[in-house]
Amino acid sequence: MNKTVYIRNIADHVGREIRLHGWMYNRRSSGKICFLIVRDGTGFIQCVAVKKEVGEATFDLVESMPQESSLTLTGIVREDPRAPGGYELTLTSAELVSPAEPYPISLKEHGVDFLMNWRHLWLRTPRQHALMQVRAEVIRASQEFLEKDGFIRIDAPVLTPAACEGTTTLFETDYFGDKAYLTQSGQLYAEAACMAFGKVYCYGPTFRAEKSKTRRHLTEFWMLEPEMAFYDLEASMQLQERLVSYIVKQVLERQRRALDVLGRDVEPLLEVEPPFPRLSYDDALQLLKEDGFDLPWGEDFGAPHEAAISDRFAKPVFVHRYPAQCKAFYMKPDPSRPEVVLCADLLAPEGYGEIIGGGQRSDDLEHLERQMAEHQLPREAYEWYLDLRRFGSVPHSGFGLGIERIVAWVAGIDHIREAIPFPRTISRIYP
Ligand code: ATP
Ligand code: MN
Repeated sequence: MNKTVYIRNIADHVGREIRLHGWMYNRRSSGKICFLIVRDGTGFIQCVAVKKEVGEATFDLVESMPQESSLTLTGIVREDPRAPGGYELTLTSAELVSPAEPYPISLKEHGVDFLMNWRHLWLRTPRQHALMQVRAEVIRASQEFLEKDGFIRIDAPVLTPAACEGTTTLFETDYFGDKAYLTQSGQLYAEAACMAFGKVYCYGPTFRAEKSKTRRHLTEFWMLEPEMAFYDLEASMQLQERLVSYIVKQVLERQRRALDVLGRDVEPLLEVEPPFPRLSYDDALQLLKEDGFDLPWGEDFGAPHEAAISDRFAKPVFVHRYPAQCKAFYMKPDPSRPEVVLCADLLAPEGYGEIIGGGQRSDDLEHLERQMAEHQLPREAYEWYLDLRRFGSVPHSGFGLGIERIVAWVAGIDHIREAIPFPRTISRIYP
């Protein structure tokens, strides 16, 4: 008896006396009977202390301990459909581990900015708890999918000598007297790795000094970047639709409770399965025209454009073959139409916009050399990258999946900052 149990597994212990370690999240008391909501990191449970049964000392303790005090409880597990979560603990004893000071986050509504200042404590609340569980599942499921599909994880460095995604969003740092930059993407290294291992992915934090304040840009975000030798654009899109569908399915299966806590309508998520619709940039531009957007050919889509396009589809939608001028230097031109490149962005429905950007990479040495000259990229820093085209170049493709973008969409939240434990934005680097 008195085995320590986690709330997650409470259903296995109905009728038995157990021990629980946790924190006091909320309480109400009549003076004779006191209801506590206790959390232990794996869940929340209602605990009941009846004065007559636990005795005066224990009752006074649970009735007076401040919110977020840590405690060890023993009690008998009961099934009770009226209790939040369906189970309840009838207390037999309680012990204080450490009392909390007056808690800054009360259970009333606070503004997000206030809460972000207390992010280290805000993470304890049910909503944030649910979000982090969805995030963990997105990461777990995506890696599981890739491993099962024969990928090997080969990570890219975070400190790099040069830019990958354009030089305006670089974080620069001093590297023993030289300049180094925080990576914007592991792609170029993943390209090297796929020539060594076939199908690879890297996963890690990436950094972009995004100066615009939007609901979907962080300055530090996590990216999953698969890269596949001998894959063309279509093969890469097929992999993406299988991967994204798998992630959504796993979250639905394994984190349904978290989605409920978040109030997520799961109907749209149930639609997510291959194939996803595909739309060329030109066709997308046409749809936008019908919606009243007057965008000249050659310009990249912004958030409102992406929202308008994806609004027309129930599933995520690929937009492929963008004009070369609005994409990065390493994209492969479409041989039948060199003014567009073999790339695709995957736009999530319900207004979420781009969750994946990817494409087929240029595998031609001369084309890349011309591109680098045009983009005024420092040649020395990229010699190793050009070597990949000198020593057995092959067609290859890859993509970058933004973890926080997927989490925000699957969880149904309206701002990306809650999709990461400690967000970094243009206006926040604390806590
Ligand atoms: P956007 O046009 O939305 O700014 P991007 O085209 O610059 O994104 P890519 O370079 O294609 O982005 O990066 C691949 C993926 O990384 C994107 O599809 C997105 O999921 C994610 N991502 C890019 N920038 C950010 C950011 N600042 N914050 C969070 N996620 C990002
Ligand atoms: Mn993109």
